Amino acid sequence: MELRAIIGLEIHVEMNTKSKMFSDAPVSFGQLPNTQVSAFDMSFPGTMPTVNKQAVINAIRVSNALNMTIDNVLMFDRKNYFYSDLPKGYQITQYFRPIGRNGCLTFNSGDENITINIERLHLEEDTCKQFHVDDFSYLDFNRAGIPVIEIVTKPEFKSGQEVRKFVELIRSIVVFLDVSHGKMEEGNIRVDLNVSLEDDNKRWSKVEIKNLNSLSNIEKAINYEVNRQKDLVIKGKTIGRETRRYDETNDRTVMLRIKTDSVDYRYFTDPNIPPIKLSDEFIKNAIDTSPELAHVKQKKYKTLGLSDYDANLITNSKETCAYFEKGLETGCSPKTLANWINIQVQKVLKLKCISINEFSISAKELGELILLVEEHKINNSQAKSVFNEAVETGNSVIDVINKNKTNHILDENEILDLIKEIINSNQNLVNDYKNGKEKVVGYIVGLVMSKTQRKADPSLTNKLTVVELRRR
Ligand code: MN
Repeated sequence: MELRAIIGLEIHVEMNTKSKMFSDAPVSFGQLPNTQVSAFDMSFPGTMPTVNKQAVINAIRVSNALNMTIDNVLMFDRKNYFYSDLPKGYQITQYFRPIGRNGCLTFNSGDENITINIERLHLEEDTCKQFHVDDFSYLDFNRAGIPVIEIVTKPEFKSGQEVRKFVELIRSIVVFLDVSHGKMEEGNIRVDLNVSLEDDNKRWSKVEIKNLNSLSNIEKAINYEVNRQKDLVIKGKTIGRETRRYDETNDRTVMLRIKTDSVDYRYFTDPNIPPIKLSDEFIKNAIDTSPELAHVKQKKYKTLGLSDYDANLITNSKETCAYFEKGLETGCSPKTLANWINIQVQKVLKLKCISINEFSISAKELGELILLVEEHKINNSQAKSVFNEAVETGNSVIDVINKNKTNHILDENEILDLIKEIINSNQNLVNDYKNGKEKVVGYIVGLVMSKTQRKADPSLTNKLTVVELRRR
């Protein structure tokens, strides 16, 4: 009988709000430990929580993107447990009334469209970060209280590949909505998942895998775990209810602990945060002012003439979209700009291992460079050499052009003057052309090129020559 895998996810997304979920301490990454902390984050007695409005707006936007029902009463509960990363002895979360409920998300995996139902989306605070060095454990409270969105799906995934695609899409959604930096390698998105097997008659115990923080690890951990469980079933062994982690070095999952009875967190509504009524206008406004998602931008770009392929590449990253849109403001052709970004720019980024935000040529400069080609002030290969020189020297595009002005630019009128000069001094050229000698065109273009040390655009020169010869 066929054994099928069923997988469910809990995704924690750390937000990039200015301040924390319940305090005014800043949310910032990469700072010295314990410098971004308020008395509330340290659980000092008598400190009171205040709810971060932007975090609520963010949760509404993500809930909306996941087609969820949004609760119009905001309530927070205490999840009570003791652990060294939680000095209060409880985490403030939304247990009884999550802000988002009953959503779904459709996405493409392999060649099929899959819809996964999403059970809940709730707001909570992050715990502090622990470092274990030798015999010591260190606590960094900078992370304590950072707003987190937790998304819980139904156990409906069938493979690691599906899960990977889904998490990729969630990442794109929270990044495009400006909710999170979405840097998985920095722990902005952490995934817990449960994997179990079923056949037509039976469902085996669930195994949890905790704290996966890269797309490839998610896929590999699931693949390993599904095979491990299938192997146990085939051998007639039992699958234990347990929590495991993924061991990257050896590409396998390792047991952390056996699950005994489910923990009772003694949830109760936080008495320090009265319920907050969210008005219809507040919810509607949060949604209406939501930044555009990748698929919305994709559609928009295609109406500008971009191919599916180019639109896909650009919308792979929010920064690239911003660069593209900024470049468009110069009025250059969207298709040409997309081409330059997806080929020339990407090549440099890959080579230098930098992001487009760190790229030395601004979107405006690139757009203007393309405009010069479109206006036939320089030709395409000249534009490429200007681009390369600007990249190599770090000089601005304009500086490179000015420096090379004599080598590069010849405008339409200057070219036309030269053509006229050549024709005027040799009337035979016109006669030969009128007698069907097409070669005359090439001859004149060649002359223009050599007279200008190739600083004219050959295709433009060709066009102007033909027009001028016909005019005679
Ligand atoms: Mn949680």
